[in-house]
Amino acid sequence: MTEPIRAPRGTLDVLPDDGRRRLELLRIADDVFARAGYGPIETPIFESTELFARGVGETTDIVEKEMFTFEDQGGRSITLRPEGTASACRAYVEHGMHKLPQPVKLWYWGPFFRYEAPQAGRFRQFTQVGVEAVGSDDPSLDAESILLLAELLDGAGTQGVRLRISSLGTPETRRAYSDELREHLRAREDLLSDDVRARIDRNPLRAFDSDHPGTQAALSDAPRLIDRLNPEDAEHFSRVRALLDAAGQPYEVDGTLVRGLDYYTRTVFEFESTELGAQSALGGGGRYDGLIEQLGGPPTPGVGWAAGIERILLAASGDDEETRVRRSVFVATTDDADPVQAFDIARELRLRGLHAELEQAGRSLKGQLKHADRLGADYVVIVGDEDVQVKDMSTGDQRPAASPGEAVELVAAGGRA
Ligand code: AMP
Repeated sequence: MTEPIRAPRGTLDVLPDDGRRRLELLRIADDVFARAGYGPIETPIFESTELFARGVGETTDIVEKEMFTFEDQGGRSITLRPEGTASACRAYVEHGMHKLPQPVKLWYWGPFFRYEAPQAGRFRQFTQVGVEAVGSDDPSLDAESILLLAELLDGAGTQGVRLRISSLGTPETRRAYSDELREHLRAREDLLSDDVRARIDRNPLRAFDSDHPGTQAALSDAPRLIDRLNPEDAEHFSRVRALLDAAGQPYEVDGTLVRGLDYYTRTVFEFESTELGAQSALGGGGRYDGLIEQLGGPPTPGVGWAAGIERILLAASGDDEETRVRRSVFVATTDDADPVQAFDIARELRLRGLHAELEQAGRSLKGQLKHADRLGADYVVIVGDEDVQVKDMSTGDQRPAASPGEAVELVAAGGRA
């Protein structure tokens, strides 16, 4: 016997039950985002490696060690997209969207790829949904963006949700603060993890992302960027907070929140769930006022977030029974019944908008009734040699119908003939 082939490590097959929950979430996403003026965008699943090197940042974990990068047959370096913001901004520039009325509001949903150690809630191919509002630095867009994710999580039934927000200020503020933090870390170098120590020069802020106990101890009395904001950035942050307060959105201001991507300026935020284990982040994002320029476009502000579909669903109640609202019918057949008649009844019921399945695996009538029960059918239409019966599965009542057409009418009307 040949060995069966397995899916690559860290990937996920979505089977129909989960597939249905994901489609339901996609529908909610489209509804929530469309009502706030966001339009769907699709960009390629692979991009030039250069886009992420420039857009995400050379010293980030993603670019340093997590990208699926390869050379195509023409010798170009290609990368499977590890995140969506760089692509959305590339598309904004490439399609001259700065000529449209601003801000341009976009949302996306699709597969993303990172070479990470697979564990619960962490995959090498995962699905993100995200929004981007490009072309304005109005604080209402930061607040709107945050509230859209809150609404999506609420719609998904995600449990134990917490929101942390902070502000990273401008690149200048960040540079001055980085120098200050660098000095602080150098003075405590022996406490730090190797990883953090190796990055003191290049990216000291990333120390805040570490869960290494020594690093955390070294950071406990470190200065916070949020205390170093210039007056304009502090004002922007307080306006974002005022809008969240007015919307009744709970949050915690957390000066240790830096996020793993280099492009953020001003507002950053992250939603997490207490229902998830170590990988507690549901989604997050922030403002990226320098990114478009970095990608070769005109100076253009933007704000957005991305959230993980698999994690949202892991943290959701999982109680999706009640989403089965359509009436459901199973068309059973006796041994000597005309299979064309059963097929036709099922088709007619489907055309009427009902959920209808029929016997397609040669079960006995008894087996079919058991199967119908397992499927949660409200009715079974039993097609016999000479007659058609309708069984109401909630009461057990069974009665004959004068014709196949009458059986269809009967179940379509909910049994009230
Ligand atoms: P990030 O772009 O890293 O902020 O990721 C945004 C969200 O995507 C996270 O909060 C997770 O919900 C999800 N996510 C990121 N990486 C992974 C992964 N490797 N597996 C599953 N979900 C992920």
